[in-house]
Amino acid sequence: MKVSALGEFGLVERIGKLIDKSRDTSESWQKLILGVGDDTAAWQGDDSIQLAKVDALVEGIHFRHGMMSWEDLGWKALAINLSDIAAMGGIPKYALVSLAVPPDIEVDDVLALYKGMLKLAQRFGLAIIGGDTDSAPRISVTVTVLGSMGKSKDLLTRNTAKPGDLIAVTGYLGSAATGYEIIHGKTKNGKNHTAAKKAFLRPEPRLTEGQLLLKYGIKTAIDVSDGLLSDLRHICKASRVSARLEAVKIPIAPEVAAAFGKKALLTALSGGEDYELLFTGKAEAIEKAARKAACSITVIGEIIAGKDGVISVVDEAGKPLKLSEKGWEHFVSK
Ligand SMILES: [Mg+2]
Repeated sequence: MKVSALGEFGLVERIGKLIDKSRDTSESWQKLILGVGDDTAAWQGDDSIQLAKVDALVEGIHFRHGMMSWEDLGWKALAINLSDIAAMGGIPKYALVSLAVPPDIEVDDVLALYKGMLKLAQRFGLAIIGGDTDSAPRISVTVTVLGSMGKSKDLLTRNTAKPGDLIAVTGYLGSAATGYEIIHGKTKNGKNHTAAKKAFLRPEPRLTEGQLLLKYGIKTAIDVSDGLLSDLRHICKASRVSARLEAVKIPIAPEVAAAFGKKALLTALSGGEDYELLFTGKAEAIEKAARKAACSITVIGEIIAGKDGVISVVDEAGKPLKLSEKGWEHFVSK
């Protein structure tokens, strides 16, 4: 079977099962808290819970050469990893960078990539401590981030959502996908929307918010990388529950809504790459976090008992909307 037939999520599941079979009684396995299948891996360290995550940006898959600056590319390669640490409520500590570029790339461009990465790293007190450089026919930037849960004995996971939990999200959804369309000339609308372009080029990892959610008793979170529907499905499958989203409550940036009208909702549901935090919990915990957070936090639906991973989106009258859109999945063309 070709990987294109199985798809990214199917492939990850198969790899996860294979690795799981190798589980033994060694200390490494015994101290493991989360392996394949959450935003980061987590294990019990000597003093605190440790986190690790690796993610790559590959030319032709995640970005097109010349469509984003080298600084933006560096920023984003680190940001997508930090976003996963944020989805655990964790604190990033160190990063290793594996870079592959064609030999005719300018040295200054490679240095600009690192400058973009360092700008973001410095903001969160993260140290870049090494990596690997290779020659390759296409540019690829692979970043590994190590983090910890600090003093917290708990962490945010995907498998803890319960029927009755409210579903909430930080910031706005659909901005990054809109920015992608503007940058790649796929739409004539909203050419001057710097906020949408920035959302795609320089996503802001919600690290402070992730830690805040954990502090106020939220247990379940994921970052929105594949798209709202797709990422909520990850939570629902891991937690063995269903979900109902209210279309009118989904937060869309005003300039995106103004330029894209009805399409803005579809973009918000399945666009992906927003790197906001999607989480579930009790109303009062969400309200407390919302009062303290620097960004907006919006309740968009509810977790309900039902078949694993089934999500309905309802309109103002409670009537389900028909949806054919899927979230972003590698190997499978949309
Ligand atoms: Mg994630």
